[in-house]
Amino acid sequence: MKFAKQFIVEPDTKVKLADLDSEQTLGYKNDAKTQAKLDKSIQRLDALQYLLFAESKRALLVILQAMDAGGKDGTIRHVMSGVNPQGCKVTSFKEPSAKELAHDFLWRSHLATPEKGMIGIFNRSHYEDVLVVRVHKLVPKQIWKERYAQINAFERLLADNNTKILKFYLHISKKEQKRRFDERVDDPTKNWKLSAADFAERQFWSEYMEAYEDVFSRCTTAHAPWFIIPSDHKWFRNLAVSSIIVETLESMDMQFPRPAIGPLKRDSSS
Ligand code: AMP
Ligand code: MG
Repeated sequence: MKFAKQFIVEPDTKVKLADLDSEQTLGYKNDAKTQAKLDKSIQRLDALQYLLFAESKRALLVILQAMDAGGKDGTIRHVMSGVNPQGCKVTSFKEPSAKELAHDFLWRSHLATPEKGMIGIFNRSHYEDVLVVRVHKLVPKQIWKERYAQINAFERLLADNNTKILKFYLHISKKEQKRRFDERVDDPTKNWKLSAADFAERQFWSEYMEAYEDVFSRCTTAHAPWFIIPSDHKWFRNLAVSSIIVETLESMDMQFPRPAIGPLKRDSSS
């Protein structure tokens, strides 16, 4: 659990994001050797997903959160590139619809949770309800402050029902976000990724950092830990996220089920 140990947020810790180096690479370099390690990790993930599906006793839920341009889409594209699309479901959470708002805030997340045998990926999640909602005062404080406990209870329910939960915060610096926004302005193939809201949200950087810090200290648990991944270097982010997913699946001691019929014999007819 080398990568997991390095980046996990232990329960009862107070995180100060400004103190965490978003350029950290643990001594790895962006070279052929690291690329080979990442390729191997992505292949291993495919094999483990196959086993998860074959066993069909447990599910894996991966939650990705980050500031705009933090790399949620890129992480999904790279880390899941080797996984059978049949075994994996990605859900992107946008501003809630009228129907979603007519339910409790966890309703849409619960609907999207992976069934046994599947990997579910949340691109944003119920954590938006204590992040953007808090920063922009979309509901009163009495409402959002209750949500940390409600989220913990919800994740506990999922964990008790055999869903392994991994939560990743892709940590980039404000400077790196600016660099990525500029790239999106300059590169016509990336223009579409920019919205006016992105620049507006940048003004709220410190409020978001504070909201994230509260999320980490209140909602990291043994059954649903947060990991803070240094993400200024995309290649390192991909290596760290894929390694933690692989380490976790490996620790689950999954087994291929015994055949339902048996003993199995090859058919001798021609
Ligand atoms: P993007 O991920 O860039 O496509 O943007 C999705 C937008 O939906 C972001 O600005 C999120 O902050 C916003 N969003 C997601 N969930 C919620 C929520 N529960 N309440 C309000 N806004 C949300
Ligand atoms: Mg956006």
